[in-house]
Amino acid sequence: MSFDPTPLRWIELDIPHPEGGGRMITLRTDGPFALRPYYRAPGSDQDVDLHLDQRTEDGGLNGCIHCGHPELYTRKVFSKPLGIGIVVGSGLLTLATVGSLGPAAYGFLGVAALADAVLYQFGKEETVCYACSAVHRGFRPVPRHPRFDRTIAERLKFGKSAVMGSAMRDGGTAGAPDPEH
Ligand SMILES: [Zn+2]
Repeated sequence: MSFDPTPLRWIELDIPHPEGGGRMITLRTDGPFALRPYYRAPGSDQDVDLHLDQRTEDGGLNGCIHCGHPELYTRKVFSKPLGIGIVVGSGLLTLATVGSLGPAAYGFLGVAALADAVLYQFGKEETVCYACSAVHRGFRPVPRHPRFDRTIAERLKFGKSAVMGSAMRDGGTAGAPDPEH
């Protein structure tokens, strides 16, 4: 593994509020090394401890910065407003031009589908914790955590009674291959 000298700038961490209720707190710092070991939860007198030991020397993730769990998955961040805007815009364009262009106007819909696919493919990624749902953005993508594996989620949810659960890999998901299913 070669050292990547590109400095990491803004990182974001969405973590569950300690008082529950499905609320999330977003922490934003200038790079992964600007994070402090604990933060006061807004609107409460509780502190949230971070597991900075899960951060690698390069600013990557061995596990969850919030709860320390070693299993994470990577997902694409798709900009829904932009994606929907492209589809709606092309639909209107098709309607407005189908009178003059005929069936060729439907080409706008094809272009929109392609634009959305490109947007998705080259969009940003975020890394999510299976155990606590914390979302990490902007960290170094090494080690890589594979995409969502329902056998891991199943084991964490149902424990030993999980029908399709898979055993935890040594070191969690860091550098693991993508699931085959
Ligand atoms: Zn976690």
